[in-house]
Amino acid sequence: MLKKRREEFLYDRNISISKNLDILESAKRKLSDSVDPYDMAQSQIDIVAEKMGLNNNITKYLKKVERSLIVSIPIMMDDGTLEIFEGYRVHHSTLRGPGKGGIRFAPNVNLNEVKALAIWMTWKCSLLNLPLGGAKGGVCVDPKKLSKGELERLTRRYTAEILNFIGPDIDIPAPDMNTNAQVMAWIMDTYSMHKGKAIPGVVTGKPIEIGGSVGRESATGMGLFYVLESLCIKLNLDLKDSKVVVQGFGNVGGHIAEILYNMGAKVIALSDITGGLYHEDGLNISTLLKWRDKNCYLKDFKNDDYKFISNEDLLTLDCDILIPAAIENQITHINAHDIKCKIVLEGANGPTTPEADEILNHNGIIVIPDILANAGGVCVSYFEYIQDIHSYFWDINRINKELKTIIVKAFEEVYKLSKKNKVSLRIAAYMIAISRLAKAFELRGIFP
Ligand code: GLU
Repeated sequence: MLKKRREEFLYDRNISISKNLDILESAKRKLSDSVDPYDMAQSQIDIVAEKMGLNNNITKYLKKVERSLIVSIPIMMDDGTLEIFEGYRVHHSTLRGPGKGGIRFAPNVNLNEVKALAIWMTWKCSLLNLPLGGAKGGVCVDPKKLSKGELERLTRRYTAEILNFIGPDIDIPAPDMNTNAQVMAWIMDTYSMHKGKAIPGVVTGKPIEIGGSVGRESATGMGLFYVLESLCIKLNLDLKDSKVVVQGFGNVGGHIAEILYNMGAKVIALSDITGGLYHEDGLNISTLLKWRDKNCYLKDFKNDDYKFISNEDLLTLDCDILIPAAIENQITHINAHDIKCKIVLEGANGPTTPEADEILNHNGIIVIPDILANAGGVCVSYFEYIQDIHSYFWDINRINKELKTIIVKAFEEVYKLSKKNKVSLRIAAYMIAISRLAKAFELRGIFP
């Protein structure tokens, strides 16, 4: 039954794939082995623009970011030496509202990566129909090498450098890779000190005690679950019987692994940056979460029944659901042919290159795209922003209920359009997001 439904779904889509491949050929020429995320986002716009017959002016406009800020962040280290880090904040689009998007601290962060991530935020907010635009920030640093004091000074100085670029009605940052509620608290405090009053609405993902929202930390995981559950209902696939592989054991990977484990799915493999653990009957996720929370890596976890595997091998395991929840560029033309799952649920932003996406489509693998799959985080960020403005806070039942309503509605719209236009879920999601942006562009016009 499941096989038949998947076949029907895939048959509809395959009709349109050959045309898609032509477009991809030209997009592909621009891409090298290691895909630059900004090139990847540009190619994605080209593919969708072609499919939608999007006006050239709009396409041209959406391919650019509105503004990028590059800052130097001098930090006095604990040993008395001065280090200078580079930071970025990019506004891709404020067509539909203030910029929104996280800040990541990671060793390879660069301007093009931040631009791509800002573009994907614009699409994500538009797909959920939130009155927000897209932005992103990052600092090129390995935060694990910093003391707590150094991390705080870095965060505060970065905030001071981007002070006029952010604000509740300009651009509202949030956590992303290697940033958390404490980092948001320092940003909120630094911003508030400069403005002479407490302004909780400048960031989301804050601690609850200073205007954060319940349910924000688990929101991306919950969103992933709601969207996966919705697809499984369509495919008649019982999640409880499914075999799941999760790449990434941060906030996103950790929460979705925990949710699926608690409902009885078998999480057969899970990885962090040091590699992954595998057991065909499923891993004990509760134990592994406790291990992670003691700041330990999976490579040091001792269990003779678990096999230690590389991150690359983990991606090609035989399973029902593969959840890349780490970084961009994980499923590429090099490994896409070896992916064996039924569903790819994109927890990370941009884990699949456009070329790999086509290969997965060809091989009958359904991909739930990042801008839909991981949108739970920004959705509850939006709730936090509303709660801060109103100084009235919701309980967890209301948060999860409203999150589910928005995510499931977006999923249903995407699913329906993918059926109607015989395109993948990704193309359908991009089409919905971009058509809303195109409408806003048309209504607002170009100044002056
Ligand atoms: N960093 C998250 C994302 O990529 C959340 C952004 C936000 O809440 O603004 O979606």
